[in-house]
Amino acid sequence: MQIYTAPLRDMRFVLNELHTDDGFGDIPALADFTPDLTEAVLSEAAKLCQDVLLPLNRSGDEEGCTLENGVVRTPKGFIEAYKAFTEGGWNALVLPPEWGGQGAPEAVGKLVEEMICATNVSFSLYPGLTNGAIAALTVYANDTLKQEYLPKMVSGEWSGTMCLTEPHCGTDLGLLRTRAEPGEDGSYKLSGAKIFISAGEHDLTTNIVHLVLARLPDAPKGVKGISLFLVPKYLPDADGNPSVRNGARCTAIEHKMGLKASATCQMLFEDAKGWLVGEPHRGLEAMFTMMNAERVGVGIQGLGIGEAAYQSAVWYTKDRLQGRSLSGTKHPDKPADPIIVHPDVRRMLLTMRAWNEGCRGVSAWVARALDAEKHGAEPEQRQRASDFVALMTPVVKAMFTDLGLESASLAVQCYGGHGFIRESGVEQYMRDARIAMLYEGTNGIQALDLVGRKLPAEMGRYLRSFFHPVSDFIDANLEDPAIGKMVAGLKRAFEALQGATAIIAERGMKDPEEGGAAATDYLRLMGLVAMAYCFAKATKLASRELMSGTGEAAFYKAKIDTARFFYEKLLPQSASLYLAIKAGKGSVMDFAEEAF
Ligand SMILES: Cc1cc2nc3c(=O)[nH]c(=O)nc-3n(C[C@H](O)[C@H](O)[C@H](O)COP(=O)(O)OP(=O)(O)OC[C@H]3O[C@@H](n4cnc5c(N)ncnc54)[C@H](O)[C@@H]3O)c2cc1C
Repeated sequence: MQIYTAPLRDMRFVLNELHTDDGFGDIPALADFTPDLTEAVLSEAAKLCQDVLLPLNRSGDEEGCTLENGVVRTPKGFIEAYKAFTEGGWNALVLPPEWGGQGAPEAVGKLVEEMICATNVSFSLYPGLTNGAIAALTVYANDTLKQEYLPKMVSGEWSGTMCLTEPHCGTDLGLLRTRAEPGEDGSYKLSGAKIFISAGEHDLTTNIVHLVLARLPDAPKGVKGISLFLVPKYLPDADGNPSVRNGARCTAIEHKMGLKASATCQMLFEDAKGWLVGEPHRGLEAMFTMMNAERVGVGIQGLGIGEAAYQSAVWYTKDRLQGRSLSGTKHPDKPADPIIVHPDVRRMLLTMRAWNEGCRGVSAWVARALDAEKHGAEPEQRQRASDFVALMTPVVKAMFTDLGLESASLAVQCYGGHGFIRESGVEQYMRDARIAMLYEGTNGIQALDLVGRKLPAEMGRYLRSFFHPVSDFIDANLEDPAIGKMVAGLKRAFEALQGATAIIAERGMKDPEEGGAAATDYLRLMGLVAMAYCFAKATKLASRELMSGTGEAAFYKAKIDTARFFYEKLLPQSASLYLAIKAGKGSVMDFAEEAF
């Protein structure tokens, strides 16, 4: 059974309590978003997600999307849900007020995104891609394009896509073939085939605005010859309303393992009219604005599914009766004890819980940095925030989505054989979670981005935006009677991360394959340290609250107990990751290709 109640108390904890000392807070431009307003936003979002999106999750998975005569239909109920969603302004929650958005903090927006992904990740892609396209257009489009397209996209009347992938060209965008020929009126004619385009065609909006990567006739080879174009499904008339059908159409939709209610389209562009966005040959730069925004969002998909999977597993393990507790019968009135009494089942539940709380703590930190990057009062604060976001984006994308799948798999395990049966609902979480490790750059590519680009950037300045607060916290709290032991664990993991960084920097300089072989382990190690830092801070806060005799003792005690589990059972992975990194590339690269 798919059940979900938004973890609002936990969300308030990461939003209002955990990160107040990170130097990213108190942003004047966001002062209108008072705690009362934020509270109301979160509660209303929870209602919409639980009452409207969740009931469509299973039916959308069963029904999927259909293509008939070039028209893609979303599953029953999606049109109405999208209407309720956009009428409530949820699509525009964090978008700029200048174009009709509500300008809410990302710190709030990311929590709402988590609820949307927990209740219906397929649905989340329709507004999600649009918001990414808006991010790119806001920065790179000229004023005419902005005026013509942004208000309708921000209102949700029109949606957006991101058209990069071609049959022979996925990770390596340098191979891209779609062409753009200049026309006489300043527009371009685009021709080429794209595959795997999310929301490329659907019935939720009156127009679809494709952001398409293509090559101009004089383009240099490789990634330095790619430009970005805006190509609408319908060309707007003089009043800005959709009129003539453009040469962009969906030729097929993919039949997928999961995410079935999201239309994944093969698109054909045949002399489709489009307009250049940004500078010629600099399209990747513009597209990366979109992809960076999307990557954090994809990480949140992992967290959302992880939370939904956890809640379903908790419900089931309290209900399912099998065997007796090893420490003696707990429910003599029943034929057997509920399986939640068994240590191995508790291990699975606590693993999911710790991953979810760890991810939420880290994402709330990154979200605050996203706000400070945009609205910070001082240039120094904006720079530090921007460095931190750049560093953590691949970690959020890859680690959260890996853990989303792990949690979904653990939920299936908690259900036993019933988890494998569709009716249980949890097998859908596994299928839906899997894609997030692949799109927006596979998780392997995220790890390479972290090691190859983000670590050496600005002589290690990005890295310092993370290392400094962690190191300061360790120094300040190592002797603290309440959390000193935990901080000693954080110190060990942090030293492993520092050691691994030095190894990668030294070996990677001489041999890039050393960095490549260490990248995935290194990303996980960094993510573990980020989580460990959040858990230690949470424990400090919770201990203080308990000492002061809070009325919420159960909530804060559970915070401390989850942190303890993380430190004792999950953080030790940092030691083995360090050893694997230290071992170097030898065993990976010496293996003969013909022996595979
Ligand atoms: C449901 C779905 C929705 C999607 N939505 C969109 C969308 O809206 N728009 C869009 O443009 N695309 C979209 N995609 C495409 C998606 O982004 C790509 O599938 C993804 O980027 C990987 O490309 P690929 O499938 O060609 O894999 P490949 O690039 O062929 O990679 C295969 C494997 O090799 C590894 N690999 C490749 N190159 C390297 C390297 N240099 N170093 C190390 N490892 C490497 C990869 O990590 C991966 O494990 C979607 C895909 C799916 C399935």
